[in-house]
Amino acid sequence: MSETKSREEIARLAKSIFDRGLTFGSSGNISLRLDDGWLMTPTGSTMGDLDPARLSKLDNDGNHLSGDKPTKENFLHMAMYEVRPETGAVVHLHSTHSVAVSCLADINPENVLPPITAYYAMKIGTLPLIPYFQPGDLDLARAVREMAGKYHAVLLANHGPVVAGKSLHDAVYAIEELEETARLFLMLRGMNTRFLTEDQVAALKTRFPA
Ligand SMILES: [Zn+2]
Repeated sequence: MSETKSREEIARLAKSIFDRGLTFGSSGNISLRLDDGWLMTPTGSTMGDLDPARLSKLDNDGNHLSGDKPTKENFLHMAMYEVRPETGAVVHLHSTHSVAVSCLADINPENVLPPITAYYAMKIGTLPLIPYFQPGDLDLARAVREMAGKYHAVLLANHGPVVAGKSLHDAVYAIEELEETARLFLMLRGMNTRFLTEDQVAALKTRFPA
């Protein structure tokens, strides 16, 4: 995809995410890998009204080249790209249901959500919880880097999800699946529920390898 097309695609998908209430105000950010660096949503911008021409462009070393200054959460994105070289895009949202789940005291930090549906099992699979850090704390980047080697999606405690994908569409579809699954999980809490079994999840992984 050309850089111009990539810029338009980021703005279009960001607006779609914002319009559906999946992130609010100036929260949430998107990055996309180019041959000669990265595109990133600017700091203080709203996902609902991005100007494709003003997206931040970074060079291959992560230096700001052009456009507005990148999101202050750019280190979350860079942590994913550093450890997962096949990553084409990263999306981070403050999506309500995922944030709600990240605040629960009794979740399993090694894998926050159960396999409720086959799509969740295929698009996310395992979702570790990263402990709470203050915004901008570089220890948060270190914690994400440690998990990103094994998992393309992580949930930041009391904050929100970060999801990497081979393409922008992959990352967006996966984070949407995560948010819907978090919503289902909250709806089902306290109800007698059948989740997918370990065998059913293993069969999916065999038939639809990532
Ligand atoms: Zn955030």
